[in-house]
Amino acid sequence: MDLLLLGPPGAGKGTQGVLIAERLGIPKFATGDLLRDAVRLGTPLGLQAKAVMESGALVSDDIIMGVVGEELRKPTAAGGVIFDGVVRTIPQAEGVAALLATLGRRIDKVLFFDVTDEEILSRIEKRRGIEGRADDDPVAVQRRLKAYREQTAPVLDWYRGRGGVTTIPAVGTVQDIADRVKQAIGA
Ligand code: ADP
Repeated sequence: MDLLLLGPPGAGKGTQGVLIAERLGIPKFATGDLLRDAVRLGTPLGLQAKAVMESGALVSDDIIMGVVGEELRKPTAAGGVIFDGVVRTIPQAEGVAALLATLGRRIDKVLFFDVTDEEILSRIEKRRGIEGRADDDPVAVQRRLKAYREQTAPVLDWYRGRGGVTTIPAVGTVQDIADRVKQAIGA
C-alpha cells in the first residue's frame, strides 16, 4: 500500500507516520528528515538545501523529485511507502503519480491531518525548545505556514478530485489520533 500523509507543519504527520510504518511493516519516507540528515552530513544535497530550509521556504521540485525517484528504486520500497510531507506542490503530486505509475502503483490513500494554525504555532514553539530546529524560529515558521497555504493546500484539492482522501482531526492525544488513523486505513 502506498499511503500519503498531508497536512501543515506541526500537524503530527511524522509521529503518526512512525506508528503506521511499524504497524504496516512498510518504510516511512520523509523528505524533511532526509534533507536534515543531508545538511548535517554536509553532502552536496545538504549544501544545496540548507539555506532554503532554514528560511522556511520549499526546496525546489527538481531536487525533491530526484530524491523521491531514488527512494522508490530501493528494494525496501517495493511493497509500498508512507510518504510523509513529501508532496508539497502540484508538480510534486504529478511527479509522484508518474513515478508510481511506472511501477504499476498509485497513492492508495491520502490522510489529511487537520489542525488549526493556533495549535500548530503552540506545538512548534514547544518543539523548538526540545529539538532546536533552525526553521522553528518564529519568522521561518510564518514562512512555512505561508508556503503551506499557497503551495501545499492546493495539493489537497488535487487529491480530493481523484478520491481516496480521509480527513483526520489531528487534535487530542497521540493515541486518539492513532485510533482515527487505524480506522481510516483499516489496519
Ligand atoms: P514540517 O512538516 O515540520 O514543516 P519537514 O521536516 O517535513 O517539516 O520539512 C522541513 C523543511 O524541509 C521544509 O520547510 C522544506 O524547506 C523542506 N522540505 C521537506 N520536504 C519538502 C518537499 N516535499 N518539497 C519542498 N521542500 C521540502
